[in-house]
Amino acid sequence: MPRPKTPGEWPVLPGEKLAVVEEFYPGPWTIEEGGDIYSTVTGLASIDQGRRMVLVKPLTRTPIVVEAGDVVIGKVTGVQDKMAIVSIIEAKGRRLSNPFTGALNIAESSTRYERSMMDVCRIGDFVKAKVINAKNRLPILSTIGREFGVIKAFCSKCGRELIPKSGSLHCPNCGNREIRKISSDYGTLRRGAH
Ligand SMILES: [Zn+2]
Repeated sequence: MPRPKTPGEWPVLPGEKLAVVEEFYPGPWTIEEGGDIYSTVTGLASIDQGRRMVLVKPLTRTPIVVEAGDVVIGKVTGVQDKMAIVSIIEAKGRRLSNPFTGALNIAESSTRYERSMMDVCRIGDFVKAKVINAKNRLPILSTIGREFGVIKAFCSKCGRELIPKSGSLHCPNCGNREIRKISSDYGTLRRGAH
C-alpha cells in the first residue's frame, strides 16, 4: 500500500505502487504508468518533501571482504604437488555471486605430514577452510582443525559421491577407496551449492 505521507523509509518490491502522480514526481528507481508511480527494484522507498518526489534506494548486498579468521567454503579447481587452488563460493555464511580464488598450501592443510596435495583434496572436491592471510589478492587458506577439510568429494574412477568410512572415503558404486583430509562436517554441504 502506498504510504506517501510517511516521513521515513519503507521496504518495497519491484512493481509495488508507491504513490500517484498528482501527489509526487517519480524519482530514481521508479516508473510512472497510468498516473501511478511504481518501484522498479527491491529497496527502500522514501519521500523527498522538498522536491515532492517519491524515490527508491535499491537494496544492494554489500560486497564481501574476507579477513583472516573467516570460514569459507570453496570448490577445488586446481591441485599441484604442494598447493591447491580453491574457488571460494561461500564466506561469512553467505553465498557469493562472484566467487574468488584462494590458495591452500600443503603445510597448512593438516597437522600430519602430507606427502602430496592429492592426499588432501582433489579437483572437484568441496572444502571448508579458514582464511589465515587475506593481505594479498590471493587469500591463503588453512584446513588444519577437525571441522576443516573436504566436505564433499567424488570418486576419481566413476564420479559417484564418496562416503566417509574408517578415516578414508569409499565409493558406494565401484568400491574405490580414496584418501582426503576429511572435515568433521563431511556431508553437510547444502543442496544447490554447486
Ligand atoms: Zn567409484
